[in-house]
Amino acid sequence: HIDGLKACMELFEELEKGGIQNCFFEVNVCEGGCIKGPASDKWQQSLVRAKMDLEDQVAYQEEAQGIEGRDIELQKTFKDRRVHDRTPSDTEMEQILHAMGKYTKEDELNCGACGYPTCRAKATAVYQKKAEIGMCLPYAVAQAESMSNIVMDVTPSMIMIIDKDMRIRECNKKAREMLGVSREEALERYIFEFLDDKDIAEVLNTRQQIVHKKLNLETMKLTVVESIIYIESLESVLVTYQDITREEKAKEQHYNLKMETVEMAQKVIDKQMMVAQEIAGLLGETTAETKVTLSKLRDSILFEEED
Ligand code: SF4
Repeated sequence: HIDGLKACMELFEELEKGGIQNCFFEVNVCEGGCIKGPASDKWQQSLVRAKMDLEDQVAYQEEAQGIEGRDIELQKTFKDRRVHDRTPSDTEMEQILHAMGKYTKEDELNCGACGYPTCRAKATAVYQKKAEIGMCLPYAVAQAESMSNIVMDVTPSMIMIIDKDMRIRECNKKAREMLGVSREEALERYIFEFLDDKDIAEVLNTRQQIVHKKLNLETMKLTVVESIIYIESLESVLVTYQDITREEKAKEQHYNLKMETVEMAQKVIDKQMMVAQEIAGLLGETTAETKVTLSKLRDSILFEEED
């Protein structure tokens, strides 16, 4: 008993070599047997049908003619088409590392967050155009932080974060200038040491924001627009003072100029009225005198005629 079709075929070949032309095989067609083995389901086809088809084909197959194989080109040349990744020179590597914000050995954190084992492996991938410079997580975080710092520092308004104890937790460049302290010193101080903290205390208590309130900061001699917003997650308030001192001064000057002009116009009107009244008075007087004189003249003429 020989199990499996392959084993049958091997035995058949052996027998043929030994000069035996005919032999009889029993081939199992049971489930899991020679023909109906475990891979038979793969083709979703009856193996009996396949066997019959095969036998039919073999019966009709004509004998191959004239195949010598001499004229058939059986050679093929293959080219080496492997992609050879370029590696950056030392200068190029340095340039890429600088672009990733890594200027010293300590800057190369080799944290692997980018998917490359080292910063230099990542830089090589950037050089080979397989990775982006921005894919470095510490670099992206540093970029985001420095961006927000730039925005904070170039803003012409005072921006501060004051916590529930009235302590300054953060302040921008303008605020530091106006308070006259360094950042380190500001973070040690309380807001009431510099400004009237009434509004800040109110927002911390009520959590109701104050937006666009105009007020004078007496200690700083400034007119500002105040906004105070409660930050739930920090139990703090964001305070911004927009300096409008210049605009207010310009407005005041404009108002004074207007009032001066009105005053002058009123004076001119009054003067004109006085002159008009004087002229009218003089005219009235002369008219009366003329009337009296002419009446007298008329009367004298009339009485002379009667006499
Ligand atoms: S994420 Fe940045 S710091 Fe970390 S290994 Fe990659 S390149 Fe280096």
